[in-house]
Amino acid sequence: MSTESLFAKALGLCSQWGVMEVVFCPEEKRLDSTINFPRGSTFTCPVCGVPGAKPYDSNDETWRHLNFFQYTTYLHARVPRVKCPQGCGIKKVEVPWVRPGSGLTLRTVVDVLKEAISD
Ligand SMILES: [Zn+2]
Repeated sequence: MSTESLFAKALGLCSQWGVMEVVFCPEEKRLDSTINFPRGSTFTCPVCGVPGAKPYDSNDETWRHLNFFQYTTYLHARVPRVKCPQGCGIKKVEVPWVRPGSGLTLRTVVDVLKEAISD
């Protein structure tokens, strides 16, 4: 299993989201993970919960993650705003790694990466 797929699994990413890239930079003591969704994906409306909301536009966002060993860790993702088929309007989707309670999930990421690195 690749580091990318381990990372995706640990983040609890559903089928829409995949980890495209995990980059370690030992000189800068930095880890960058890029997450994206495939072309043609639809999302659940964050207001009414109806599936099938299509992306309207998107913004690149960065989150500071827990440190992984001595590495400063960042997550990068293109986060879409979607147009709800039920008429809620154009809303930013919730990303699974910043949901309430995701601290436990992020902890798991660190553990999974430790295993990946030690191989
Ligand atoms: Zn809606």
